[in-house]
Amino acid sequence: MRILKYCFLSVIFISTSLFAQEPTSAKPQGHTDQNKFRQMKDLLATPNETRTASGAPGYKYTQQQVDYVMDIRLDENTSQIFGDEKITYHNNSKDHLQYLWIQLDQNMRAKDSKTPDVKEESFRTPFNSAQAFTKSNLQETFDGGFNIEHVKNDNGSDLSYTINQTMMRINLAKPLAPGDTFKFQIKWWYNVNNHVTQGGRSGYEAFPDGNNTYVIAQFFPRLCVYNNVEGWQNMQFWGRSEFALEFGNYDVKLTVPADHKMEATGELQNPKDVLTKEQIKRFELAKKSFKDPVFIVTQEEAEAAEKQRSTKLKTWHFKADKVRDFAFATSRKFLWDAMAVDINGRSVMAISLYSKEGNPLWEEHSTRVVANTLEEYSKLTFDYPYSKAVSVHAEMGMEYPMICFNYGRPNEDGTYSERLKRGMIGVITHEVGHNFFPMIVNSDERQWTWMDEGLNSFVETLAELDYDPNYITGNLPKDIVPYMGGDQSNISPIMSQGDYVHQFGPNAYTKPAAGLYMLRQTIMGPELFDYAFRTYSQRWMFKHPTPADFFRSMEDASAMDLDWFWRGWFYTTDYTDIGVKDVKQYYLTDQPTEKAKERAKRFKMDLADYPGRFIYYAEAVDGVIPQDAKSASDFAELNTYLESLSPEEKAKLKEAPKHFYEVTFEKPGGLVMPIILEITYEDGTVERKKYPAEIWRYNEFEVKKVFKTNKAITSFVIDPDLETADVDTTNNAWPKDDATAFSKFKEKVKG
Ligand SMILES: [Zn+2]
Repeated sequence: MRILKYCFLSVIFISTSLFAQEPTSAKPQGHTDQNKFRQMKDLLATPNETRTASGAPGYKYTQQQVDYVMDIRLDENTSQIFGDEKITYHNNSKDHLQYLWIQLDQNMRAKDSKTPDVKEESFRTPFNSAQAFTKSNLQETFDGGFNIEHVKNDNGSDLSYTINQTMMRINLAKPLAPGDTFKFQIKWWYNVNNHVTQGGRSGYEAFPDGNNTYVIAQFFPRLCVYNNVEGWQNMQFWGRSEFALEFGNYDVKLTVPADHKMEATGELQNPKDVLTKEQIKRFELAKKSFKDPVFIVTQEEAEAAEKQRSTKLKTWHFKADKVRDFAFATSRKFLWDAMAVDINGRSVMAISLYSKEGNPLWEEHSTRVVANTLEEYSKLTFDYPYSKAVSVHAEMGMEYPMICFNYGRPNEDGTYSERLKRGMIGVITHEVGHNFFPMIVNSDERQWTWMDEGLNSFVETLAELDYDPNYITGNLPKDIVPYMGGDQSNISPIMSQGDYVHQFGPNAYTKPAAGLYMLRQTIMGPELFDYAFRTYSQRWMFKHPTPADFFRSMEDASAMDLDWFWRGWFYTTDYTDIGVKDVKQYYLTDQPTEKAKERAKRFKMDLADYPGRFIYYAEAVDGVIPQDAKSASDFAELNTYLESLSPEEKAKLKEAPKHFYEVTFEKPGGLVMPIILEITYEDGTVERKKYPAEIWRYNEFEVKKVFKTNKAITSFVIDPDLETADVDTTNNAWPKDDATAFSKFKEKVKG
């Protein structure tokens, strides 16, 4: 799903203002947690034969399979959907199952749904339009829950079942043994909601011309996941945290008005029954068109179609193997275009379905963005294994296998803002990208939103920057700063169940995406990161990974101990704040300093007894180097020693440094992070240094580094490219009052 960016921006605004009230540097984080580098043995499940310590599936790994054969009918006049569903459940686990759990997502819209009960209410709007008042006070509550007509076994006998809100338990007469299959059927129907006025990830949109576009999903009773991590994953559907689903094979017949155009998960089995000869011919052309989309249904044809209304019906037949779900879109209003994408020598179709209201934006961008997404994601994960990916125009953002629903509607005169176009490219990239996470790398969305939304938003960012290098992604480390530096009582760790967190967007989308971006660009480097990320993706293709499998795979394939990063970024709400506390300059002298004398006393030495023997580092007061400061060549004993070296040894020596600095870095933030340092010299040259996060391993509040150079240093700036989500940049530059260094830095922060 896509969280609309404008909601997200208002969230950022609130947290920024809170952040402003409480300067973060006042109270250093992390006092309670001294060892940021301890291993995560206390947080991760013990590895076993099903999930190994390397993060790969073990030799005893199993997963269930659920196959569906369905006959579905849409009644356009009443907007009701009727289904006859035959399910084959394969128990591949080693467990005897006493019952099966089925997800009835539409029951979130049932009359007795508890979803509205847990929503806070108040009279926030002091005045109402007639429509709004009617809707909230006079209209019957919409009943969109499932009507279960029967649940039978394959002999036709009724099965006992119990419905608890959005979950249905089928009580088996005898436990289902390991390796056995159980066949049963469910007959059901429900009223389809208007997703524009009533919200939702599925439903119809009604147009003034009397037609609807249907984007239909979660429309049939679906099996819950059973595994060795959750048992049955039967946490209720409250409307936010998404789904956990098993893979299986689908054979679906969909009966709709004869003049509808349709796309769905899977391959169309009967094109000759539902497409015209001309449309079939155009599809064949599209299969060879790798540069531009080819129209299957043009705008002219779609506009002609929406003026008619067929009373006949047609049945579309789709089959899909190894998918975790099934969705479809249908309307007579649809334009249709398609092009081919070369995925490592294999042709995949990029397809769009949209009403004329989406144009001209949709015919310009939708299918091309689908194609770009498949290419870019394939590079970073695995070759896209399905035959097609479809983008359907609906005012939402939601994903299913091979098909997704996306927003982006121009004004009535066809004009659109750059922002709308960017939003549309973003949402299509995002939703098509969900084919990879979680449709193929099939994580448990109900439990761990970040495993699909976070990983997907991260790869989305790289794909968008590939489509348009100037694309403003909103998923970079600097973009998560207002959230992470905001009011701690409104922030939850990423490792939280999505139904219970404030600021869902930053928590489950932006922060994990920004963290992975940081891991790739700053901490691991693209080469190590990409190999490990691909390893994780390929290990868990068509399987069910858990967070530990991800964390472990990333370390196992890269030889990087990242426990400090996972622990800090995913399990806490700590933030990054690293600064330059102090820069001291030193000079060379032959006179013992107070510090040297004190140290000598411990060895029972009097340095006055050794004139000319030692070289002392003396601290410059206020950065002023006294006139009588020495240079290395002034020390006779050093010269004699150097003279004694062989010519080969002499040749290897460096020029003696002239300037000596000792920098103290402070870390008021609770996170440990690499220190990225930009050093500017008096001649204007600039040097970058990067110290790994482990620099904080013995003292997480303060560390020192020395710099010995031939050129005077004029400034130090920490994290000059804003790579680490540092929440307080006022301590990032030295000298603090240096107008050039600081303002240059501030300009960057603003940009
Ligand atoms: Zn999403």
